[in-house]
Order: sequence, then structure tokens, then C-alpha cells
Amino acid sequence: MRRHLLPLITLGLLVMVLAERVLEATRRYLVAAEPVASETRSATPDLSRKAAAPVAVATRSRAGDDRLARLAAREALTREAGSTYLDSLILSTDSVVRRWPDRWGAPIKVAIVEGGVPGWSPKMADYVRTSLDRWESLGIGLHFSLVSDTSKADILIRWIDHFDFDRAGQTDLTWDQSGRVRRALVSLAVRTNTGILLPDDAMLSVAVHETGHAIGLPHSADSNDVMFPATRTGVLSDRDRRTAAVLYRLPPGPVRDVIEGER
Ligand SMILES: [Zn+2]
Repeated sequence: MRRHLLPLITLGLLVMVLAERVLEATRRYLVAAEPVASETRSATPDLSRKAAAPVAVATRSRAGDDRLARLAAREALTREAGSTYLDSLILSTDSVVRRWPDRWGAPIKVAIVEGGVPGWSPKMADYVRTSLDRWESLGIGLHFSLVSDTSKADILIRWIDHFDFDRAGQTDLTWDQSGRVRRALVSLAVRTNTGILLPDDAMLSVAVHETGHAIGLPHSADSNDVMFPATRTGVLSDRDRRTAAVLYRLPPGPVRDVIEGER
């Protein structure tokens, strides 16, 4: 009996060590896989997801092309700097053009979670549909289709009663290292943080603004633009249109060449 004891204890310890390793690995995986909640302006890159392998291979073999693409992107950004606010995107993403990848005509799936808060009314969902139409009608390759299954949605839109501070909407964007947006969560408030039901025009302009973030647009410093932080209009300005158009002409990804040794 005794001579079986030592191997048994050893085996027991081994099992415990292994179990702990598995638990630790699982925990790390779960932490890494969880998208980090983020604010509108400091949306969080999803660094836990690597670019799909075939893409990575293709990118390596096209290093020269990529360099040229980055050069062309930088030139376009400089050329359009005065008539767009993309500089704000480049600053906030550390020189990454961030947008939905080209889908060759396939639409971005949007789920609108209707209701859920007191004071909600169907017209609020109409404002969101109107907002999506405004971006889609620019003819820059963006197409949206509404889906009811939230698990299949690329963009999820929902309402909350209010934010705890002076804000009426928020968009959390997730994108990968190649600047390709993976998903967006848009939260729209029904009331101000002081409890007042938001007027219709404010709801529409906030919906246009937040869906603008959902397609990857940054803030504008000009109050005539929909993407001005304290948005006052739901009508796309020329700068809004041009910024979205230039964004969707540029390839997603870094615009700066990584210099050897620089991080
Ligand atoms: Zn904003």
C-alpha cells in the first residue's frame, strides 16, 4: 500500500499543477478576448485579434505595395487636410486610418434594439434609420442592412435612459491592428443627465453624429459639422461628406512607415 502512496501523491500534485495551468490559460484567454469598453473618442483597438493569416501572408509579400499605399494615403491626407477633419482621426489613432473594410457590396449589418427605457418611442428608431440613410446616400461604398438578430450585427444600437454626465450618445468602436473596424456599439440617451427628455432635433443630430463615429469618423473642431463634439445639426456639411468620402477612399491601416528600431 505504502509504495503506491508516493506515485499517487506525485500524480495528484501533477494533476493540480496542470489544472491550475489550464485555469490560468483560460482566464488569460478570456481577459484577452474581452473587448475593452471605451469612450467615443478613445475607442479601443482590438489588439487581441490578429489579422487573418492569409491576409498577413499577403501583406508580407506585398511590402513594397503597402509602402506605396501608405505614401499615397499620406499624400491624400495632406492634400485634403484643409477640407476634412481626418487629421483628428490620425492624431487619435496614432496614425492609423480606421474604417470598415471594403465588403464588395456586402452590407454592414445593423441591429436596432428598440425600446428598453421609459419614454422611448418608435420615432427614435426612425432617427437612426434616417442617420444611416444619410451616410449611405453619400455613395462612398457604405451599405447598411437591418437585422433583428443582435448576435449577427456589426453595429448594435440601443437606448439608455441617460448618461451620468453631459452626454447624449456614445459609440464604442473595436478595430484590429490593420485599422479595420470590427464592430460598433452605439448607445443613445433618451434624456439628458438632468432628466429632461431630449428634443426631437437633438435626438436626430445625436443619432447622425454617433452613426458617424460608428463608420469611423473622428470629431471635427467646426460647429457646422455633424461631427462637432457638442453636435447641433443632423445635416451633413460639405466637410462631413468630404471627410467620410476621403476616409473610404483610403486603405485602412497605418499611414506611417515603421522605421527600424522605432516603436
Ligand atoms: Zn462624438
